[in-house]
Amino acid sequence: MSALPWPDRGDPTDRPGPPDQPGPNGLAGPAGQPGQAGQPARVGPPGLTVRPGFSARRPAPPRHLADLDPAGRRAAAAELGQPPFRADQLSRHYFGRLTEDPAQMTDLPAAGRAELAKALLPTLLTAQREQQADQGTTVKTLWRAADGAYLESVLMRYPGRVTMCVSSQAGCGMACPFCATGQAGLTRNLSTAEIVEQVVAGARALAAGRVAGGPGRVSNVVFMGMGEPLANYARVIAAVRRLTDPVPAGLGMSQRQITVSTVGLVPAIRKLAAEELSVTLAVSLHAPDDELRDELVPVNQRWKVAEVLGAAWDYAAATGRRVSIEYALIRDINDQAWRAEALGALLAGRLAHVNLIPLNPTPGSKWTASRPADQDTFVARLAAAGVPVTVRDTRGREIDGACGQLAAANADGQPG
Ligand code: SAH
Repeated sequence: MSALPWPDRGDPTDRPGPPDQPGPNGLAGPAGQPGQAGQPARVGPPGLTVRPGFSARRPAPPRHLADLDPAGRRAAAAELGQPPFRADQLSRHYFGRLTEDPAQMTDLPAAGRAELAKALLPTLLTAQREQQADQGTTVKTLWRAADGAYLESVLMRYPGRVTMCVSSQAGCGMACPFCATGQAGLTRNLSTAEIVEQVVAGARALAAGRVAGGPGRVSNVVFMGMGEPLANYARVIAAVRRLTDPVPAGLGMSQRQITVSTVGLVPAIRKLAAEELSVTLAVSLHAPDDELRDELVPVNQRWKVAEVLGAAWDYAAATGRRVSIEYALIRDINDQAWRAEALGALLAGRLAHVNLIPLNPTPGSKWTASRPADQDTFVARLAAAGVPVTVRDTRGREIDGACGQLAAANADGQPG
């Protein structure tokens, strides 16, 4: 991974993790500024292989309108000596009309317009590189944040819907050995606005007809890019609210079209269940047994399969939403027929759906996708147990835009 643009890593052995990493109770810390300057990133549970993050001090991302709720925006406008309704005008531009250039915000007085935009709509992300696949209907963007952190998002257009796959962190601290993001460690949490901006950027590209297939809208958002969303809990929840609150408070998307995917941070899943949001929960299970899951998803050493699924069923009961069980099929590792049966036994009769993902091997990985016959058997055993199952398509594979491939490894323009 020498091509990665990461500066010095922190010492993973001593200080506690930043507040928003899962602590002993697995919950994200208080909603402070992201960045958590000066502290190495690590996962909370003891005994895990820890991937260090930055130790260098990083400035927090600039404050942006999308970090704030409507009251906060009005207060921010007032602080700038502006009437509070300017905040609503700016919000209509950002969330409603998707206006990018302050010069086009002609309902704002020309005097002071640029200052207002600079203060509340600062540039958060700059596209460093864009790659397309599937005849231009899959677009992966590498973004550079104001502090130089890299993150990626992927737009996927299907007949009748457009899904944005967004990052919640730059890097990831969960260290799943089959995932490209997990190999590089955590850089920092993204701010709420940095998460929202990925979706707004996709919405602008679609509205302007810059995506193959003509003008369109973002209909779905999946938190399946870089990072563990529930390790950046407060900012991810705020982002979900910004995405789903009606214009001008937010983008006005449907909560049901949003999926939050997690390695299984049990206390955070329980907290999410209490939010009264109708978002879909996806749990990255990847193994039905603790012995293998301890290896594939190291946080399992802290929260076992039974606890994770217990929290998932409580989420389903609280929300009425079917939980998506993510399972990357890895040849001869987790794709045996007996494991399909064990998985079927765990899920039968539950409000659940299995999403099988053919493994996208990361560079240098010893693992690869299952043989087609083994995949078919796996599907058949689940179906025989009465468990709904689908095999995910492999969108964006050739541009490393497929699941688990987001590593920002091409940030310097060199082959990853
Ligand atoms: N941290 C969250 C979001 C991560 S990415 C989570 O773990 O759920 C979304 C999905 O892609 C997860 O299910 C993840 O396990 C899966 N994934 C990661 N690397 C993969 C790979 N190389 N091939 C297939 N799926 C992968």
